[in-house]
This record gives sequence, C-alpha cells and structure tokens, in this order.
Amino acid sequence: EVKFNVVVRGKKSGARIGLRAKNVIAVGSGKGGVGKSTVAASLAFGLKHLGAKVGLLDADVYGPSIPHMAGVKGQPGVLEYTTSEGQTIQRIEPLDADGLKLMSIGFMIEEEQAVIWRGPMLHKILTQFVQQTEWGDLDYLIIDMPPGTGDVSLTLSQMLGLAGAVVVCTPQQVALLDAVKAISMFNQVKIPVLGMVENMSGEIFGQGGVEKRAAEMKVPFLGEIPIDATFRIKGDAGSISSLFDDDSPVRDSLLRITENI
Ligand code: ADP
Repeated sequence: EVKFNVVVRGKKSGARIGLRAKNVIAVGSGKGGVGKSTVAASLAFGLKHLGAKVGLLDADVYGPSIPHMAGVKGQPGVLEYTTSEGQTIQRIEPLDADGLKLMSIGFMIEEEQAVIWRGPMLHKILTQFVQQTEWGDLDYLIIDMPPGTGDVSLTLSQMLGLAGAVVVCTPQQVALLDAVKAISMFNQVKIPVLGMVENMSGEIFGQGGVEKRAAEMKVPFLGEIPIDATFRIKGDAGSISSLFDDDSPVRDSLLRITENI
C-alpha cells in the first residue's frame, strides 16, 4: 500500500476534480534503451514550451527515469476537497517539474529498489495515477509507457480515452522489428498509433530506417532526432527542460515532432 502524508484542504465542485485532458498521448517502444523516456519527457517540455498545459505520467514500471531527467525529487502530497455536495474527496497532487505536472512510479519506490509488480498491484497504482490524481485541466497528458507489450497499455486503454500512441525506435533493424511488435500491440488494445519517431539517428546507428518502415506499415512518420551527446548529458543531469532554452539541432527536431503530433 502506498501512503501519502501531506494534506491540504480546499473546496471544489465535484465536477472540477480529477483529470480533464484534451489529448492523451502514450509514448511507447518495442524495447528498452531506445530513448523512449527521454523522448517522452522532451516532447512534454516541448509542448509546454509552445504554450500548452502539460502533464507527464511516468508509467514505466521497469525503469521510472523521468523524475531523474527532470531533476525532481520528493513525494506527492494529498489534496482533500469538500465538494458543494458535502462529500470529502482526496486526490494525489502531482509534483511540479519546471511548469509540468509530473507523476511517477519512481516517487513511490526507492531508487535502487527492484520492482516486480504483480498484475493487481500494477492496476491499483495506475488507477491512482489516472483516476485519483488531481491533474486539473490539461491540453496534453503524456504517458511514458513501459517498453514492450503488456498489461499497462491494456489497463490504460481501458481507463482512458487515449488520443493515441507515439512509437519511438532507433534506426537499426533489430530495434525496428521490436517497434513493429509495439505497433501491433497498440492495435490490439485499440490505441491508435499517431506515428513513429526515429531516435539516435545518425552515423552510428544509421538513418532513414524508421521512415521507410513507417511508410511500409502505413503509419505516419513524425520525425527524427539526431544522436547527440548534449541530449544525453542534459537527461543525466536532470535538466531536460533546458533543451528548449537555446537553439540546437535536437531542439529543432523535437519541435518539428511536436508540431506533427
Ligand atoms: P528508454 O526509455 O527507451 O529505456 P532512455 O530514454 O532511458 O531509454 O534513454 C537511454 C539512454 O540513451 C539515456 O542515457 C539517454 O540519455 C540516451 N539518449 C536517448 N536519446 C538520445 C539521443 N538522441 N542522443 C544521445 N543519447 C540519447
């Protein structure tokens, strides 16, 4: 059982409590290590940079890395509301990450703790994230999904009218095959695929493979992000939001992708 301690009291109409997101976008991948979390976090900050109200949900149960990338530590509190109907409702308050509302499975476990989530526990946590968190009015809720196929996508697609999924992959053949599996998984759980992103594009892994595969699968290609040391360094240093402070090739490609979504 996860416990939250801080209680802030307020009054609100019942209809104004919870999640009201215009668009929900799941960011998935066929396998780990392709930069899915980095891309999810930077797309969220990119949308915020363009003026949108954004929430970021780190549902990657196998490696919740977004709090680290966004430089956020701490534990969410609980808000307690009395509705006009006299009901008391408690909601988890997301943490602030440079103007983004952030919730992560990482706030609930120790950094080195291995997570072996059994189905019911996972379902309960995701329900807390989606239905018992005070996200408020959002233009976008971006969800960093666990890699591969699975439970989380099914649970989330049942709980949320998802707008769609973005599938991140690297240009090599092996990663591409996994991405194809991820796309068929999203199809199975009836989450429409908005498109594919090629990450770590460049000399090392090649370039253009994802665009080609996207065309073959009749899935939109949203753009490519170059392999870039600064991108990695900012993620490791917890300053991913500062990507949008200065001009850079990575910033340009991220903004192009946000416009294509
Ligand atoms: P995943 O969520 O797919 O497991 P991460 O987002 O954790 O992958 O990224 C894995 C590693 O690759 C991280 O160290 C990250 O900083 C780095 N990385 C991601 N995208 C790029 C890129 N375009 N250029 C350089 N490094 C990247």
